[in-house]
Amino acid sequence: MVCHAVATSPFYRSRFAEAGIDPTKVAKIEDLSNLPLLTKDDIRAHTDDILSTAFKKQDLALSKTGGSTGVALQIYCDRKGVEKRAGAALRADEWSGWVLGQPLAAIWGNPPTPKTLKNKLRRWVKDRIIYLDTMRIDDQAIAQFLGQWRQMNPGLLYGHAHSIFILCEILKDRGIALSPRGIVATSMMLIEQERQVIEEVCGIKVTNRYGCEEVSLIACECEQHHGMHLNTDHNIVEFLRDDGTPCAPGEDGRIVVTELVNFGMPMIRYEVGDRGVPSDRICPCGRGLPLMEHVTGRVADFLVATDGHKVAGISIIENTLTRLPGIKQMQVVQEEALRLQVNLVPGPEYGPETEVRLVASLQEYLGTEVGVQVTQVARIPQEESGKYRFTICRI
Ligand SMILES: [Zn+2]
Repeated sequence: MVCHAVATSPFYRSRFAEAGIDPTKVAKIEDLSNLPLLTKDDIRAHTDDILSTAFKKQDLALSKTGGSTGVALQIYCDRKGVEKRAGAALRADEWSGWVLGQPLAAIWGNPPTPKTLKNKLRRWVKDRIIYLDTMRIDDQAIAQFLGQWRQMNPGLLYGHAHSIFILCEILKDRGIALSPRGIVATSMMLIEQERQVIEEVCGIKVTNRYGCEEVSLIACECEQHHGMHLNTDHNIVEFLRDDGTPCAPGEDGRIVVTELVNFGMPMIRYEVGDRGVPSDRICPCGRGLPLMEHVTGRVADFLVATDGHKVAGISIIENTLTRLPGIKQMQVVQEEALRLQVNLVPGPEYGPETEVRLVASLQEYLGTEVGVQVTQVARIPQEESGKYRFTICRI
């Protein structure tokens, strides 16, 4: 991939020359430690230069990623790469307990319209997929979804973790159970309390998955739920400290991916924008693919304490939402260093005492000088992609 990129991509040719790296001498990822990381800003500024001249641009599949971190990207992939990515996703889907050929149920915001090859594939199996659009969850949508569920009996329940949770919470209240063979939660933010509700309603374990549009599947749990297997057939994943040196097992760091299957738009040392923890444990399943422990969160979702240290959004949410009575959903926005805006959906047990404890808890994590404004809302809005963000840092 390195030789291909330097030979056919003007961007990488100059990058490697500037770093003084001879591509023919690169034998392992450590040999690239002097190569600057590929950032989202790099991709946005040099999209066409990154593309390989070995392909015609119009022959590449295009996907656009959401602008949730403020940077919208155009990512191209060659056709073989698209197929390999789809294969890796199918393999990981089967680890959940689902078997290829069984119908799917997807819980998604703005279900896809078929434009890319991936979406055409989806349409091809259209009759085998039912959707619940998370942008419009109401009684009628739930009734329709459950009606289709009974007809199709899907083997796989698939979607952003929090969206699956919202459905399962409604079903739990109504005493309705689902029985898929597998559940794949595609969001890194699988909150423990939400996992419990999903597993109670569906009677099986949630399979947590991590990936992104830019390099597709990065890691996925197997049926052992013992950590996430890295998709090392397709990617080399680095976990880096802020000084650029590699993390030790168990140490949280920036996630950097080098993809080995997309020759149309080589992604070499791509900084995904998430943080996660590598592992040296061995999964008892025997697959042999190395593990990572978990994704700590999006870099943009870390809040900043008054003493300067960063706090993972999921830790804040898990230690407030799950411990205080009467909070159904919550989003914490750090508008300024000393100002938090909390939007929360109250449950029946919510009262003044919950709010006092919530404010105290947030100040304990972020600093006692931090002002907290709590606003009760009917729902937490999603992003266009249907993803929910539990914490947003604007500083
Ligand atoms: Zn395993």
